[in-house]
Amino acid sequence: MQELEERIRKNGIVKPGNVLKVDSFLNHQCDVTLFDHMGEEWAKHFKDANITKILTIEASGIGIACVAARHFGNVPVVFAKKAQSINLDGDQYVSTVFSFTKQREFPVIVSRKYLSSEDSVLILDDFLANGNALQGLIDICNHAGAKVAGIGIAIEKGFQSGGDSLREAGYDVASLAIVDSMNPSDGSIIFREQI
Ligand code: 5GP
Repeated sequence: MQELEERIRKNGIVKPGNVLKVDSFLNHQCDVTLFDHMGEEWAKHFKDANITKILTIEASGIGIACVAARHFGNVPVVFAKKAQSINLDGDQYVSTVFSFTKQREFPVIVSRKYLSSEDSVLILDDFLANGNALQGLIDICNHAGAKVAGIGIAIEKGFQSGGDSLREAGYDVASLAIVDSMNPSDGSIIFREQI
């Protein structure tokens, strides 16, 4: 998605440790018009997937998912909560995620009330790096017996393994911008050519 790539080039900051900071439009301040255009792109890609629900993870996924839902007939958005403790009762689906940015594990939970075997789920997230966050969300769908109908990502770091592994596992992963390489010393970013 050209608009997103241009925005990353203009406002993204390449940090050491393979981290791309996009706080000015995605992870802290939110550009809702850009989110709306991202939602449009995912809706085109997943138009035949009969999505009944969008699943994301707090915090940055929520805004993106809520705007995207407007393009999927206003389906409900469910966000997995990052639990502080594992003192959880049986009314929830629980998985564990290793955070790339925080370098620690945390449990993620979704109430059984909001996901079931009737659902055809679009999983959305801001970034895809090693795929741990997505694996947690896929686990939760599996616990619920829900179908993972697709995965939409704003920015995939293609030089990390998550995207390739998920595609090899058969998931339809639609990443709107794929960074093939980035260099913290001069801030340069190379995007993968997309059709
Ligand atoms: P993964 O679980 O795929 O390794 O990492 C994805 C999660 O880590 C995303 O939900 C995102 O919050 C965070 N993340 C990973 N890499 C980056 C990055 O380069 N920049 C930002 N802002 N977040 C990242």
